[in-house]
Amino acid sequence: MKEKRDIYRFLHVTPRRLYEQLDQYVIGQKHAKEVLAIAAYNHLKRIEYLKFGGEVSIRKSNVLMIGPSGSGKTYLARTLARILDVPFAYNDATAFTEAGYYGEDVEVAIGRLLYATNQNVSSAENGIVFIDEIDKIARRGGGARTGSAARDIGGEGVQQALLKILEGEKIFVPVNVTAHWNKYDYTEVDISNVLFICAGAFNELNDGDGKAIGFFGDDASQSAEPSTESLVKYGFLPELLGRLPVRVQLDSLSAPDLVSILTQPREAMIPEYQRLCALDQIQLDFSQDALLEIAGAALKQKLGARALRAILEKVLHPVLFVGPERAGERIVIEPDDVRKALTVTA
Ligand code: ADP
Repeated sequence: MKEKRDIYRFLHVTPRRLYEQLDQYVIGQKHAKEVLAIAAYNHLKRIEYLKFGGEVSIRKSNVLMIGPSGSGKTYLARTLARILDVPFAYNDATAFTEAGYYGEDVEVAIGRLLYATNQNVSSAENGIVFIDEIDKIARRGGGARTGSAARDIGGEGVQQALLKILEGEKIFVPVNVTAHWNKYDYTEVDISNVLFICAGAFNELNDGDGKAIGFFGDDASQSAEPSTESLVKYGFLPELLGRLPVRVQLDSLSAPDLVSILTQPREAMIPEYQRLCALDQIQLDFSQDALLEIAGAALKQKLGARALRAILEKVLHPVLFVGPERAGERIVIEPDDVRKALTVTA
């Protein structure tokens, strides 16, 4: 039964279809959506190939995403998991430590997949593990490897530990990851079909001459992927980079992108608030300039789309407060309402 479903799913998926599905949720980032669609498709093909006894190895398409905060890295990965109908686990690389040190072992990342599936091992084995803030575990001090006197347990040690899981097979995984202070129980999980997506902002990434590349260059829309060499200089082990063969750079979102994010995607925020108001018989609308004002405020905070919800909450505070008292009215938010809301509470 399960086999049949998998094959069915496989036959009906194409990179373009995956792209189109991502496109319903994620605004902009055309190149990243294409790259991710291809990576996911190849990942599925690889799984099928191995299932039917393929012998020559097809490499895993683990992904490294580079892009500013709030540009949609996590959202893209999470949406992909939803489209593929596989479990998703979010991890923060800065919480990991080298085995034996106080902190999280990298196996906890797989433990989170188990948790997301209610401890269903076979479902977890097809999941997506997302590792955020990967740039924060770059080796300090760049160039030369340090001796044991200067152990870098949060950086290189974690990279070493990650090497083990990025292309790992059967490993022992803690089952009760949410119970922090307990001794973990372990179970065996085959992670050869788990897809890893690592992401980071790489703020200080430059080409070695101190000149910024990619989204820090003059042309924000150009998405030149950083070279392995520049990532090694940044402080990554070449072996780790070798296990993240798919690289993709996300653009910083523009004001019009942010306006689209507010209004267009399947889970857009403004329709959500409009529904909320409609329940009180209020017709809520925003003038185009008000939307641009909100986008401008988000850009100022340099948090990308991440700033939008908090801004909207502030702007709509007066409307949401009076709520049912204004039943039957139409309320239009103008740029002035936005400015007022943001200066009063700033
Ligand atoms: P990042 O991981 O790049 O820092 P996130 O993916 O966490 O950013 O983005 C935060 C939120 O902003 C998401 O949950 C989503 O609601 C929204 N968002 C960000 N980028 C986009 C985008 N390109 N299209 C639609 N929504 C987006």
